[in-house]
Amino acid sequence: MSFSAEIITLFPELFPGPLGASVLGRGLADGLWSLKATQLRDFATDRHRTVDDTPSGGGAGMVLKPDILASAIDAISPAGDKRPRILMSPRGAPLTQHRARQLALGPGALIICGRFEGVDQRVIDGRQLEEISIGDYVLAGGEVAAMVLLEAVVRLIPGVLGKAESHADESFENGLLEYPHYTRPQQFEGVDIPAVLTSGDHGRIAKWRAEQSQALTRKRRPDLLEPDKS
Ligand code: SAH
Repeated sequence: MSFSAEIITLFPELFPGPLGASVLGRGLADGLWSLKATQLRDFATDRHRTVDDTPSGGGAGMVLKPDILASAIDAISPAGDKRPRILMSPRGAPLTQHRARQLALGPGALIICGRFEGVDQRVIDGRQLEEISIGDYVLAGGEVAAMVLLEAVVRLIPGVLGKAESHADESFENGLLEYPHYTRPQQFEGVDIPAVLTSGDHGRIAKWRAEQSQALTRKRRPDLLEPDKS
């Protein structure tokens, strides 16, 4: 069974968007994963297809109604569906490579894209939505965030990236940032490729790369070296 992604959104026409390009798009065409985007408005019950209402307690903006969103969730992911239900949200747990890898090993995900001020808390609680954030900034909607999440996950699905593009050494995979890359020409604007990389000595190359990774991580992301980080 391949990874099955379902999106609930007010803008289904945005999908697959970038997820349809390159290796991810090929994986989609080859059935290594599937994607379906559903229009939340299809679950509205009034003539105007209303999905939002004013915030209780006052304040600016609109809130997605719990009854409409719950109907959409229940239709797409009925009880017994093993896929996690994710709500893209700036209040959520920060997305990590670790969570992306867990999701890639699972059956798929139901992903809800918020709009306006967000979603009524009772549907978050009542449908056990896992809130995931893609960073400490506020987007206009969850669609781009859902694409970021899916792009991180889908490239980890076995078979999507070729062997040549394996991810064992990548940033975050071993808790470190990746070492610098070089390719031909041998000299570019007066700068040579570091000699060790053209030495053919695989032991020395591995050691140099490990040292570069360590140094770069210490300099740019010392938080990753703290013991409690996964
Ligand atoms: N009022 C909310 C922000 C709403 S932004 C707050 O202050 O927390 C509208 C929608 O965009 C959100 O419901 C969410 O689905 C999406 N979104 C915005 N920023 C995001 C982020 N950093 N990560 C994931 N989703 C985000």
